[in-house]
Amino acid sequence: MLKNPLFQEILMDITNDEKNSFSIIECILNGKTSDEEISKETEIKLTVVRRVLYKLYDAGIASYKRTKDPITKWESYNWRFEQDKASEIINKKYKNLKEEIERCIKYEEENIFFACNTNNHRYKFEKASQTNFICPECGESLEYQDNSFIIVKLLNEKAKYISLGKSKVMISL
Ligand SMILES: [Zn+2]
Repeated sequence: MLKNPLFQEILMDITNDEKNSFSIIECILNGKTSDEEISKETEIKLTVVRRVLYKLYDAGIASYKRTKDPITKWESYNWRFEQDKASEIINKKYKNLKEEIERCIKYEEENIFFACNTNNHRYKFEKASQTNFICPECGESLEYQDNSFIIVKLLNEKAKYISLGKSKVMISL
């Protein structure tokens, strides 16, 4: 999952610190779960480790258990990475991407496009006819554009997101 580009994007959104987040989660998955251990292992400052962990906690993809040392009375926090929640966020993002592509496909299918050859400025039929099929940006003539290649590209992209969204996102290091 950590290699999943969408997950990296999500981490960036959540913590604004993708590199450290990545190392911290990796460390938790490898069994070092207290803030101090994580800090030592990753050589990331303890304050940074805590900041990242609390942001992940707010987003629901990390949780902690507090334990108190019976002798020293010191409290320590042991962190857990919530894979199911992370998968859920990723799959939701795939779903949104898929829906966005579906809107684009609909737009391409429902309209007729005209474009100028040199600069590929592109207009819907209504707009192109208003300017007598002369490109308002560069003055070249606008010609009918067969957009089936765009639709094919979009359909392929949609298929990719559907299959990615279906696959259970697994943790792999
Ligand atoms: Zn043009």
